[in-house]
Amino acid sequence: MFDVASNLKSVLHNLPEGVRLVAISKYHPAEYIEAAYNAGQRIFGESHEQELQKKVEILPKDIEWHFIGHLQTNKVKYIAPYISMIESCDSFKLMREINKQAQKNNRVIDVLLELHIADEETKYGFTLDACRQFLQQGEWRQLANVRIRGLMMMASNTDNQKQIAGEFDTAARFFDEVKENFFKDDDAFSERSWGMSHDYTIAVAHGSTMVRVGTAIFGPRVY
Ligand SMILES: *Cc1c(COP(=O)(O)O)cnc(C)c1O
Repeated sequence: MFDVASNLKSVLHNLPEGVRLVAISKYHPAEYIEAAYNAGQRIFGESHEQELQKKVEILPKDIEWHFIGHLQTNKVKYIAPYISMIESCDSFKLMREINKQAQKNNRVIDVLLELHIADEETKYGFTLDACRQFLQQGEWRQLANVRIRGLMMMASNTDNQKQIAGEFDTAARFFDEVKENFFKDDDAFSERSWGMSHDYTIAVAHGSTMVRVGTAIFGPRVY
């Protein structure tokens, strides 16, 4: 096993106060998560519903699970009883289903709106214009069992650090705009989830409050 505890420590060392770490454990076995858990980590992120389900059953109950992958509406019901945050909310249809399942479970589920800023076609998420329209349209205000906590995005998969920083800045400015226009009096709208293994140090310099780091903690994934 990768030295999970020492990697975790190095990553945490690079995070300024107020920035939280979501340890992305997808494709890694439960023992790796346990190693990080025993080193004090409590927030973990997964991107597949079935894999998450299996891990939830065998791992400690005080883990906060974040869902970070593309979520099909018909899968929401499986994770709704326990998920702490769905970071990858990318449509009103999905949000409505999250609300419905949250209601059934008598809880409020935190979500982030996933933005598409990177110059890659395959990534999910709202474009900035689509996100503006969605918020303007206002139907989300009726969803009493969903709480929008902020924004999530991925930067382009490139070595060009300037481009990456520019994309984080775009997201940070968009956060300010949306905060001002729609969430001014809502303290819960406060999270900016950006930064992964190769770019999280750039992300924290550009407004991130939550980084999602997998490889730098657990090593390369075996698919
Ligand atoms: C896999 C994944 C990560 C973590 O990526 P690493 O490069 O392993 O740190 C972060 N965010 C999302 C949305 C992911 O799918």
